[in-house]
Amino acid sequence: MHISVIGSGYVGTTVAACFAELGHEVTAIDIDEDVVNTLNEGKAPIDEPGLEDLLEKRVGDRLEATTSYDAVPESDVTFLAIGTPSNEDGSIDLTALEAAAEATGEALAEKSERHLVVIKSTVTPMSIENVLEPAVKRGANDNENIEVGMNPEFLREGSAVSDFMHPDKVVYGTRSEWATERLHEVFEPLLEQHEADIVETDPATASMTKYANNAFLASKISLVNDLGNICKEFGLDAYEVMEAVGLDDRISEQFLRSGVGWGGSCFPKDVNAIIAAARETGYDPALLEATVEINDRQPDRMLDLLTNHVDLEDAHITVLGLSFKPNTDDIRNSRAIPVIEALQSQGATVSAYDPVATDEMATKFPDVNYTETAADALRGADGALVVTDWDEFSDLDAEFDEMATPVVVDGRRCITRREGIVYEGLTW
Ligand code: NAD
Repeated sequence: MHISVIGSGYVGTTVAACFAELGHEVTAIDIDEDVVNTLNEGKAPIDEPGLEDLLEKRVGDRLEATTSYDAVPESDVTFLAIGTPSNEDGSIDLTALEAAAEATGEALAEKSERHLVVIKSTVTPMSIENVLEPAVKRGANDNENIEVGMNPEFLREGSAVSDFMHPDKVVYGTRSEWATERLHEVFEPLLEQHEADIVETDPATASMTKYANNAFLASKISLVNDLGNICKEFGLDAYEVMEAVGLDDRISEQFLRSGVGWGGSCFPKDVNAIIAAARETGYDPALLEATVEINDRQPDRMLDLLTNHVDLEDAHITVLGLSFKPNTDDIRNSRAIPVIEALQSQGATVSAYDPVATDEMATKFPDVNYTETAADALRGADGALVVTDWDEFSDLDAEFDEMATPVVVDGRRCITRREGIVYEGLTW
């Protein structure tokens, strides 16, 4: 098939590269010329394991990028993977996606064959019916050959390519059998090499499934953090407790690692968006509000543990890890942000190290001393906070002896407790 993918960010680039790898002809469209040029050089505009290999292989062979929507009518199916950020009040901001939906409609106004426009972006349940489908139809002058569907994406940054190629489930949210069949044709090459559950439903249910999925996972982590904080108060190891809890099939052993909390581009905005959408209906989503509140508290708990040992006024504190999780350069809603803010507001000077996310963070906090290695960041420091569990941090050892006062607060359980350093686990 010929597929056009609009938006070449984390999701769009991964989806475009993977569809090309699976044998489809793919045109990736983005308004950002730099992104398009980078893609056409066979390079990845974002840092994702395995993505650049796919692009190197497929650009010029089944995959090309452009800023023009001209390829849209030539394709059989169009996927929209545009950002859906939060408004100030947490509700979903559909401005960019609506503009792209309308432009897609305009490109399809004259198309005489049926064409499926698939929303890949995460959108609240009524967004397709109330905003996005009308935008496509408006652009297309009500061309009846155009149908809009939903195919939520469940990949995780840091393992996006592998997640896309090995999904647990693929959700087709459509209004007709024709659209379901089209989506199935798109995913057939993937499903031939990897077994996954297929869910056939309507667009609103597909949209809600994505929010329910993320809300469940974020709430599971917040619950584990709440229980972990209680463990810490009792002097217990939350990891030992949760290892036993995870033996219960109904709970599963996944997502039981307590720590400094969740961040990234999805959980925070998606939980807030579904809270705002629920409130608009008059419903008070009390548990989801607590999910957010507990997450907001975890960085403060790290600081509390640190100040038990170090006076922050004029202290030199090291932050290890800046990306919101390992194997990505994405710092959106990283827990490092509230941690650095709190350190600076309490008078500390901050040095920081991250293997890939330093440039990103430097635009946000230019007055932090960013170093090339963890050892450089730790040398002479009065305390250290471990915020992201990059693999290399678990090898740190003698580096802590170079600190002025070796106090380490570990928010991710990746440092080994040993004699000679004051070690505080966040929930253990
Ligand atoms: P992103 O911000 O990384 O990328 C969006 C891209 O769209 C940018 O490159 C931007 O230049 C481009 N764009 C904006 N307006 C455009 C237009 N009118 N025409 C063409 N291109 C345009 O976003 P993302 O992280 O890839 O997320 C996209 C959607 O997927 C969001 O709704 C998000 O919630 C959802 N999602 C993200 C992830 C993730 O891990 N990042 C996972 C699952 C779902």
